Amino acid sequence: MNSTEECLFCQIVQGKIPAKIIYEDENVLAFNDINPLAAIHLLFIHKKHTDHLLAMVQQEVKQVVDLFSSINQVAKNLGLEKKGLRIVSNVGKTAGQSVFHTHFHLLSDKVLGPFV
Ligand code: AMP
Repeated sequence: MNSTEECLFCQIVQGKIPAKIIYEDENVLAFNDINPLAAIHLLFIHKKHTDHLLAMVQQEVKQVVDLFSSINQVAKNLGLEKKGLRIVSNVGKTAGQSVFHTHFHLLSDKVLGPFV
C-alpha cells in the first residue's frame, strides 16, 4: 500500500519524524504512542516495511519473532509481566488500523477495559 517514502512509521525509522524512542535494535523500534490510551502505550515496529501483520507473516515471518523478542525484553525491563499488559495489532481499516506499517500496541499500567 504505502511506499516507504510516504509511510509515517518508515519516516520515524529514518529519523525524519520525531518520536520518543523507548527501545531500538538492528531490526526493531519501539516508541511512545502519540495518543496514549494507557499510562504505558508503546508501539513496536519492524524497521522493514510491511502493511499489516498478516502481510508480515506472509512475507517474512521471522519479523514477528524479532518483534516479540523485543516486546519480551522491554516488558521485562519495565516490570510489566507482573502488572499485566495487552498486545494488539489492528489489521485493516474496519479493525481500526490507521497507520499501514505493521505495528503492535503494548498497553499497560492501567486496569484495561473490555476489548471492544
Ligand atoms: P492503529 O490505529 O492501530 O493503526 O495505530 C496507529 C497508532 O499510531 C495510533 O494509536 C496513533 O495514536 C499512533 N500514531 C500516529 N502518529 C504517530 C506518531 N507520529 N508518533 C507516535 N504514534 C503515532
